[in-house]
Parts: sequence; C-alpha cells; structure tokens
Amino acid sequence: MTRIAILSALMEEQHGLLALLQQPHKTTHAGRDFWLGELHGQSVVLALSRIGKVAAATTATALIEQFGVARIVFTGVAGGLAPGVQVGDVVVASGFVQHDMDASPIFPRYELPLYGRSLIACDTALSALLFEAAEAHLARVGAGFDASSGVAAHRVHRGLIASGDRFVSAAGESVALRSALQSAGHEALAVEMEGAAVAQVCFDYGVPFAAVRTISDRADDQAHVDFAQFVREVASRYACAIIGAWLGLL
Ligand code: SAH
Repeated sequence: MTRIAILSALMEEQHGLLALLQQPHKTTHAGRDFWLGELHGQSVVLALSRIGKVAAATTATALIEQFGVARIVFTGVAGGLAPGVQVGDVVVASGFVQHDMDASPIFPRYELPLYGRSLIACDTALSALLFEAAEAHLARVGAGFDASSGVAAHRVHRGLIASGDRFVSAAGESVALRSALQSAGHEALAVEMEGAAVAQVCFDYGVPFAAVRTISDRADDQAHVDFAQFVREVASRYACAIIGAWLGLL
C-alpha cells in the first residue's frame, strides 16, 4: 500500500489526527518526529512541517526521500485575504504563490527563478476530493447552526493561496499584499507560511499535493488574538473531520 503523508504546521492541528492513528510508530529523522500508522484504512505518515517555508521544504523532502510517500496533503490554518473569506471558512488550494519571492528586475516579481513560473498548481483530482470532504464537513457543522442566530454559515472556497515567511497581522499589510499580488494577476484568497514550499518540493519530485486551510484570522490587527483562540478550539477538529472524509474518498 502506498503511503500518504499528512502534514500540519502546528501541534494543535495534528493533535486529533494523531489520536486516531492505528498502530502508531514514531520515528525521528532530521530532528523531526514522523508518525507511521493507519488512518481510515490508509497507510499514512503524520508530520509537522514546522513553521515557515524552509522548515516545510525540509519536512516535505524527508517525507519523499526517507519515507517514500506517494501523495502529500497539508492541513492547517491561514489568514483570510480576499473579501468574503471569513474566520471559520475553509480554503482548498488550487495552487500556491510565494508572496515574498522577488528577484526583480532579473525575474518578474513572484516568479520562482529558473522555474519560469510563479504559481505551482495542486493536484486536480486530490484537490477535488478535498473540496468534497470539506463541503461535507461544513454542511454537517452548518446543520447544527441556529439559522435565526444571524451567524453566517461557513463556506468552502477554492483558489490561490499565498505563502511567505511572515505572520501577516496588520490590516494595512494584508491589503497591500493582496493588491500587489493582484497587479501581477494573482487573486489570493488566503495567506500562510508553508504551502508554497511544500508545493514546490512536490513539483520537483512529481509527487501529487493538495492542501486545505481553515481560516483562523483575517490577517489584520486582530490576527494574533483570533489565531490563538481558533487554533485551540477549532483547527484540530476540522483537520480530523476533513482529512478523515478525504481518506475515505480516495
Ligand atoms: N505563535 C504561533 C505561531 C504560529 S505562526 C504558534 O507557534 O502557535 C502561524 C501559523 O498559522 C503558520 O503555520 C501559518 O501557516 C498559519 N497562519 C495563520 N494565520 C496566518 C497569517 N495571518 N499570516 C501568516 N500565516 C498564518
């Protein structure tokens, strides 16, 4: 059976999945813990990417080189950038851009030098199943909502995610980041710190990759407050439910 890697950035995001892992076996490599086992009948390895692009690239490379994974899925949280991408919504990535990649004027802004591209696309089939799993989860959560409470039901979005080595936590910065990307033709829905790095490693090795991020904050002045509370209360449950359903669809 080919092994699937399930990557998360933070311990809180991995917590629930780890609790469900059958025949867990921990092994340490490159200073990281890798949990091998079975989840919903699939052979998996759970790992923390750690935070930021370089750390995430190291983890992804180890998963491919050392553990021979055939597919990688990332589950985590992100800041909402586009209007309408609200806390509690879910974004399934169609692809990734590095918002802090800038080798201009030698290469156009955002272009990955020597790759001839700025965007790395996710695997279409894996992402479609992830979208289906996320929609099913939010429909279940939504069914528990009291419609008269005025709380808007959460939505699943599909689109571009921007990654960079910054926790974006100021409204001005978030607006500037989004409009700079827009002027280069990139409509980013959310911002986080690892996805584009994992996508690039997977692109290099020809390993299919998909990613889902629950929106923990709006990347504004409140971001650090919303973020901490959200990760504690929601992120782990969402990761469990969406990845569980996704594994069942494969
Ligand atoms: N103090 C925190 C730091 C987390 S950094 C801790 O260790 O618990 C934020 C993490 O969430 C990163 O993994 C990033 O991918 C994601 N993220 C969520 N909101 C973000 C935002 N507004 N900007 C950048 N990354 C964000």
